[in-house]
Amino acid sequence: MVHDIARPVDGTPLVLLIDDCPDVHRLMRARLRHEELELASCMGGRQGLDEAIRRQPALVLLDLDMPDLDGFEVLRALKSHERTMDIPVIILSGVQSSQDKVTAFDLGAVDYITKPFNLTELRVRVRSSLKMHHLVQMLAQRAQIDGLTGLWNRAYFDKRWSDAVAAFERHGRPLSLAMIDLDHFKAINDTYGHPAGDSVLQGLARLLQREPRQEDVACRYGGEEFTLIMPETTPEEARHVCERIRTTLHAITWPRHPERAVTCSVGLAGAATPIELSAAEWLEAADRALYLAKQSGRNCIHTAELSPRLAQAG
Ligand SMILES: [Mg+2]
Repeated sequence: MVHDIARPVDGTPLVLLIDDCPDVHRLMRARLRHEELELASCMGGRQGLDEAIRRQPALVLLDLDMPDLDGFEVLRALKSHERTMDIPVIILSGVQSSQDKVTAFDLGAVDYITKPFNLTELRVRVRSSLKMHHLVQMLAQRAQIDGLTGLWNRAYFDKRWSDAVAAFERHGRPLSLAMIDLDHFKAINDTYGHPAGDSVLQGLARLLQREPRQEDVACRYGGEEFTLIMPETTPEEARHVCERIRTTLHAITWPRHPERAVTCSVGLAGAATPIELSAAEWLEAADRALYLAKQSGRNCIHTAELSPRLAQAG
């Protein structure tokens, strides 16, 4: 479910050491050897910055005094880049300077360690920063997950969908979006009670996690409405995926109401070749297709016609 988070919350944390002095790297490697972390090394500020943006470590240990790009400049850049702004940074410095400390904390460093390092102190500070980062990551991830179904929520969908459309515009690879809505959901709630309604939502969510492929992203869009982002998928292929979801859902026997089957309607909007359509317009097209699926009797899929002409009109 969380396969598309850049770095899993539960993996071994990556610590990036940026320091121009080889001795510091040797020392750190020896002293942090028994910690549960993976240590990556960069010998300069510029390379370290690139590496931090690329690998998104859980912690950066940053030397202040470096020839190409000094620690303050790296720290400023890390804190202003979207991909690295939340990564804790511990400053390593050869000098005890109050002014440097103030500057470092002002720029967003979480800690400041003076060389030569006290072994115990170093370990404790690294551990505490990693723990804090882990908690923040977990909270951030939880804020994007729907509590009832365990799927991604609307906030996550909005971001992820814009990213998918941006990637589509860049690479011109196929992309499809499905809006899936439970039929007569209110009647299920009214007839069998809300726990039964919740079970149906969870049942469809399980299907949406199981049926699509690894790279597909299932979200609870709101209420009884779900979205499925299908990268690298033509409308025809997407239709097969959705058809499988539709028929599988229809075939489920629900323990709370075995006599009553549950169905869904699907609005599909996909493109196999480049089109000019904003993320919002594309979503609207899927929503209109869903409306037409409902109009034509529910328990079916309607595919939107996406053409360049539609894009100009929008
Ligand atoms: Mg140095």
